[in-house]
Amino acid sequence: MRVDVLTLFPEMFTGVFGTSILGKAQDKGLVSLNPVNFRDYAGNKHGTVDDTPYGGGGGMVLKPDPIFRAVEDLLSGYPSEGSAPRVILMCPQGESFTQRKAEELAKEEHLIFICGHYEGYDERIRQHLVTDELSIGDYVLTGGELPAMVVIDSVVRLLPGVLGNETSAISDSFSTGLLEYPHYTRPVEFRGWKVPDILLSGHHANVADWRRKEALRRTWLRRPDLLEQIELTPKDRKWLEEIRAEHEE
Ligand code: SAM
Repeated sequence: MRVDVLTLFPEMFTGVFGTSILGKAQDKGLVSLNPVNFRDYAGNKHGTVDDTPYGGGGGMVLKPDPIFRAVEDLLSGYPSEGSAPRVILMCPQGESFTQRKAEELAKEEHLIFICGHYEGYDERIRQHLVTDELSIGDYVLTGGELPAMVVIDSVVRLLPGVLGNETSAISDSFSTGLLEYPHYTRPVEFRGWKVPDILLSGHHANVADWRRKEALRRTWLRRPDLLEQIELTPKDRKWLEEIRAEHEE
């Protein structure tokens, strides 16, 4: 996968793109992550990319021409619009980013992210340039760089070969539709708190059942809305009955 990120602050990406799983994914040639400073496309000697809003009011608005020019440059190798990559605007007014969206984006070969700053973007960028608008939550950050990093991290870790089997994303929260089950590691007993016996039993089927039931419990306690969005097996329903009864005791 190739990921281009249009930003005024490319240096913000150095640590995140070069470290841990993202750094290793690039070393392995599984992804190439390229911050692009769209000030280079300003087209004026001062590198001006923003201007005051028509109609007055505070804050500066990102001008359309540098961002259009930068995206068009990145798209220049594509023969037709149909084959072109997704162009994703980071924006608090966009679609809420979810694990499903991460899975969808992980199937693409090339993604282009646009990070805003200041008051926002000229509306024509939203209307005529982008394919998606994504928000990472109902709050406002100073720029789109941190949101783009969040999205890119969650997409790249889903690419085949990026996580080893030992850290597979398959059982992660939201991938299964549930929150993930609890984890334990050594020691067996810590300050009098013991690891559940079943995890020490070596009985794989029983461990898998315990994990499924605990994932159901955690989801029921913390995010019951998720249970309405997945298909539950008869066994799941039985476990949920048991869980409800256990919590009423
Ligand atoms: N005035 C804008 C509004 O009310 O919608 C907010 C602009 S914000 C200060 C500047 C930039 O940060 C946005 O253009 C966007 O790129 C990014 N940003 C801020 N919060 C975000 C969020 N929750 N999700 C995605 N991007 C966000």
